[in-house]
This record gives sequence, structure tokens and C-alpha cells, in this order.
Amino acid sequence: MKKVVLLRYGEIHLKGKNRGLFEKQLIDNIMESLLKVDENVKLKKIGGRYLLYDFNEDNLDLIVHSSTKIFGLVSLSVATEVESSPEAIEKSLKNLLENEELNLFSAKTFKVEVSRADKSFPIHSTDFERQLGGIVLDFFPNLKVNLSLPEKTIFVDIRENKKAYIFMDKIQGAGGIPVGTSGKGLVMLSGGIDSPVAAYLMAKRGMKLSAVHFHSFPYTSEQAKEKVVQLAKIVSKYTGSLKLYVVSFTKIQEEIHKNCKSAYMITIMRRIMMRICEKLSEKFGFQAIITGENLGQVASQTVESMTSTESVLKNLPVFRPLIGFDKIEIIKLSRAIETYETSILPYEDCCTVFLPKNPIIKPKIDLVEREESFLNIEELVEDALNKIEIIEI
Ligand code: ATP
Ligand code: MG
Repeated sequence: MKKVVLLRYGEIHLKGKNRGLFEKQLIDNIMESLLKVDENVKLKKIGGRYLLYDFNEDNLDLIVHSSTKIFGLVSLSVATEVESSPEAIEKSLKNLLENEELNLFSAKTFKVEVSRADKSFPIHSTDFERQLGGIVLDFFPNLKVNLSLPEKTIFVDIRENKKAYIFMDKIQGAGGIPVGTSGKGLVMLSGGIDSPVAAYLMAKRGMKLSAVHFHSFPYTSEQAKEKVVQLAKIVSKYTGSLKLYVVSFTKIQEEIHKNCKSAYMITIMRRIMMRICEKLSEKFGFQAIITGENLGQVASQTVESMTSTESVLKNLPVFRPLIGFDKIEIIKLSRAIETYETSILPYEDCCTVFLPKNPIIKPKIDLVEREESFLNIEELVEDALNKIEIIEI
């Protein structure tokens, strides 16, 4: 008897012609993630799903945990692999019941569901179900069989490879589609609650991500940067390995502070951030910029403000997957993806440095451009790009 993990994929089925590419990407993503947990883990395809095997059973929980973060998988099950003879299956079932690995203590009703891809297996599915159900009842005499709506189902999957798989629970997967099948994006990662959630949502729709963070050292601390690295690490469990571009924004902020009306500080900062993102995109091939912005959440997140930041871009869309979420919904998601506790650590963001008392919340583009004319933006952008730090996450 050995433990294996069955992985089931979802939307990938719908992708017709591209299916081959999708599957290849999904398998690459699974292996990239799981080889970090167990260097011996192997994957093969059986009957429209994947089987993980040859891993050290001590790593089982970690393998399951990591698998639940891989987009494109809808569910998984820990299964026991046995030789596919009636005797071997019966013996294993008894063993699993005895060791309480198939735990039916809390249930009142159950059924056994046999599926027989191997038609040479000597017993018909329904007969074998009855036989195995009898074994379960010997162990749990108070249980009742319920074929239409059982509380627990024991699945016995008899495959062509002369192996059978016994399992009970289906664990929910991350859903979505495999990262790497929907283009490349650059997420603006701030260290707050929202942007890591925005990254998660775009990765869920298959986008391969890199991240950019702007800091204002020494106005912002080394810990503030560390926090963002930490967030990127958590996000990378979903996105796969990613590059974090760390850009110093100090000089730019000082220049704006010195030369422009303070009410325009935030607007101009955001527009310069966007210009830097666009340059990075030209250089590294990103097809969209992603932010954690959310309509009306704070004064700066008005439609006018978003229009003004976006208008500096020539050929690049800005994706804002959180635009219509309530804060409570965002927090719930950030807890679920395990970024929340890091996001709320109390370190400052560069947006809070030189924060004006009365920022313009509905900026008019011609007035913003007038303020910007007091800066040498091209030079500031070039300079920031030249000093960029790249961290591999
Ligand atoms: P978050 O929780 O993501 O920080 P927020 O509610 O604090 O968002 P803002 O500070 O207005 O909102 O920032 C809006 C978006 O701009 C962020 O979600 C993020 O995508 C981007 N952003 C803000 N500050 C930075 C930064 N220092 N580096 C990179 N991106 C940033
Ligand atoms: Mg923020």
C-alpha cells in the first residue's frame, strides 16, 4: 500500500485546440511548485487526471498544501494505491478501516463507488460495490448505506495500469487556469492589503506576474522593503517564482515636493510610477499593469484620479481586479491567501511620505501637466530605472 495524490483539473477541458499547451503549462507549474517540497515527487497522467507518486510520505501534508495553491486544479485526493485484484483491494480496504485512515466515525450514511476503467477486472462494479460495502458495515455496523445522498463516499478507481486507487475525501483546489497561459503582467506591489490580493486574482486567470515596488529610503525603512519581499514570497506560492523590481522613489518625491504644488503630490507620483512601469514593460515584455486600486476606497481612488494616472500610458492597459470589491471582501480574500497578517504590519509606504494635507481628488489633466512641466520627468525616470534592484523570489 502506498500513498499517492490524485489531482483533477478543470476549465482546462474547455480550451479545445489549446488544450495541449494548457496541460503542458499546468504540469510545469505543478512540478515547479512540488519539487521544492519533495525532490523525488513524480507525476503521470491517468484517466484524465494526474497522479503524484514516489514522494516521501513524510512530505504528504506539504504536497497537499502546495497543490491547493496551484491554479488550474479543481480538486485533489490523497489515495492509497494497491494492485488491482479483488483480494488486494479488499485487504487494503480492511487495513485502511482498521488504521482509521478511512474515517467514518462521524458519518451516519455512506456508499462505495467503484469505477472500472479496466474492463478485464473480474467483478462488475455494482457487485464489487456491494461486496466492499459489506466490509465497511462489518467495521461500522451502525452505518447505513445511502446511494443517492451519502455523507461519505469511498471511491475505488480501478485503472488500466493494473492499479487501483482507494480514497474518500476530495479537497478543494484553487480553481482558475494555469499561470503562464494568459500573458505577462507587472503588478504594483505596495505592502498594503490590496495589491497582493490583486496579484492573486490575476494569477488565477493565468497571468504570469512580475512585481514592482517603489520605496523612499531613508524616509521609508528597510523593514518596509522586507515586508514587501515577504509578501512577494507568499504571493509566489500561487504565481510561481517571480521577479521583484525595487525602485528608489526618493529623489523623485523630493523633486516633486520641491517644485510642484503639494496638492498634486500624489497624482504626479502615481503618474511617474506608471511611466516607470511602462518602461519596464517595454524592456521585459509585460502586457498589462496591475494595481490594487478600488473605486472610492480612499480619496485618491476616484475615477478622475485613475484616468489621470492611466493617461500617461501609450499602449498598456491597467488591470484593477479589485475595482468593485468591498474592503471586507478584500480582507477576507487576503486572509484566505495568507497575506493579511503580513500586510497589516505597521510599516510606512512611500505614498505616505510628504503626504499633502489637501490632495486634489479630482485632478484635471491640463493642471497636472502644468505642475509636471516644472520637473525633468524623463531624466528622473531614466535615473530611477538605472538604479533598479532586482530580487528573485
Ligand atoms: P494597497 O493596500 O495595495 O497598498 P491602498 O488601498 O493602500 O492599496 P493606494 O496607496 O492608493 O491604495 O495604492 C493603490 C495601488 O497603487 C496599490 O494597490 C498598488 O497597486 C499601487 N501602489 C501604491 N503604493 C505603491 C508602492 N510603494 N509600490 C508599488 N505599488 C504601489
Ligand atoms: Mg497602500
